[in-house]
Amino acid sequence: MTIGVVGMGMSGLRTAMLLEGRGYDVKLFEARGRPGGRLHTIDEGHGTLYEAGGEWIDSDHFRIIELLKEFDMEPEARPTWPQRVVFRGKTATEDEIWNNALEDDLRVEAAARELCRDLKAPAWANTDHAELDQRTLGDFLREHTQSDEGLWWVTAKYRSDEGDDLDKIGLLGWLSGYMNYLDREGDVMSAYRVPGGFRGLCEKMVASLRTTPCYGAVLHKVSQDEGGLWLHFERSKERVDHVVLTLPPPALERVIFEPALTVRKRCAVEACGMSRAVKISWEFDRAWWIDDGWGGSMLNDGPLQQTWDGGLGESPVMTAYICGSQAAEWARLGDPVMAGLYELHQLCPQASEHFVRGWWHDWVTDKFALGAFSHLAPRYVLEHMEAIALPESRIHFAGEHTASWVGFIEGAVESAERVVKEVEAATG
Ligand SMILES: Cc1cc2nc3c(=O)[nH]c(=O)nc-3n(C[C@H](O)[C@H](O)[C@H](O)COP(=O)(O)OP(=O)(O)OC[C@H]3O[C@@H](n4cnc5c(N)ncnc54)[C@H](O)[C@@H]3O)c2cc1C
Repeated sequence: MTIGVVGMGMSGLRTAMLLEGRGYDVKLFEARGRPGGRLHTIDEGHGTLYEAGGEWIDSDHFRIIELLKEFDMEPEARPTWPQRVVFRGKTATEDEIWNNALEDDLRVEAAARELCRDLKAPAWANTDHAELDQRTLGDFLREHTQSDEGLWWVTAKYRSDEGDDLDKIGLLGWLSGYMNYLDREGDVMSAYRVPGGFRGLCEKMVASLRTTPCYGAVLHKVSQDEGGLWLHFERSKERVDHVVLTLPPPALERVIFEPALTVRKRCAVEACGMSRAVKISWEFDRAWWIDDGWGGSMLNDGPLQQTWDGGLGESPVMTAYICGSQAAEWARLGDPVMAGLYELHQLCPQASEHFVRGWWHDWVTDKFALGAFSHLAPRYVLEHMEAIALPESRIHFAGEHTASWVGFIEGAVESAERVVKEVEAATG
């Protein structure tokens, strides 16, 4: 029994490993020339190493933590410096935030917890909460905050995980993710990184496989006839018994299916929101933020939105992570690296003095991702979410967008576990 797996991001790699472990022959295809997909550790040489894509693991992302352990890799704890917070020129830290912001934060949290009490899993089972599905997270935050500081603070905090403007995020979808956090103690978000970056993990996953992956294989068409199920690439056509497609939704939309996918599936793929997130990374000749008694993490109300110490090697690197319409504005600039350095200089004048070189990573125009990660847009949960993961005859779907941990690396691994059970059930 041969199973095709298309896409070698975290979901495709984990799917291939699990299928081989259950005795299937796997054929693995990837459009890019490397594994990892939206996990992309960049090594610029001379000790300059950073993540251009997915980076952080929360401490309750147990699947990815277990996977690292399987390869004898220990997740590295986030530095304990408190995050700096800058709003309208005033500076605070996240653990000593202004009182009005803290009160608003607590009000939002209490309101979210209250709404979660009535919700069930999976998210699309909440058919009696259509009004929540129609509302946006942005509206909800405006309703439960009273100060400008508070509204900005909660917006900045939640935007980071959603990866886009909060008026694009459906409230029911957000609450169904928030339910994952209800039992969390303390701040366990962005708790770990992978030492040396995700590249090492992805390479180890590839090396553990029996199959030889096929790189540079862009899937154009999936067809089925009496002869079987065919995957059509630019220069070849492969026959498989079942296929697992892990392409992000906008990339999936570009594939032709003969016979066509159901209308329900096509609508779900089209309606799945893709967040706009970009990164700027700057290398410096010294970690001036450490000299300054600060860890480099900052949330600010300027166009840079969020920064952290992004260096995974010896050279100091600071990364800015920008989401939503501001990300789209950065993408329009001729030289976002230098424009970003100018903005960073406004916040931290030492930055320009120590600058060496920098890089820009735009996932919105990346042709095999077309967005950073998926989010649950208004009306998506009740109208479409259930259909996104459903198989269609011998075609199966995985990827972070098909998981309950939507958008996360953890979701990509979760989707692999789910789809492998599905293939097993379908193949007896
Ligand atoms: C800037 C950024 C920051 C992020 N930060 C975090 C974070 O801190 N924590 C976190 O948990 N998550 C984060 N994420 C999200 C995380 O990276 C993704 O959820 C996860 O890597 C998705 O894995 P996947 O396998 O589902 O998809 P992908 O990694 O996209 O894998 C799909 C694969 O399919 C391939 N493909 C596409 N089209 C075709 C085709 N036609 N033919 C063949 N192959 C094709 C792609 O090249 C890709 O390799 C971030 C993402 C970005 C972009």
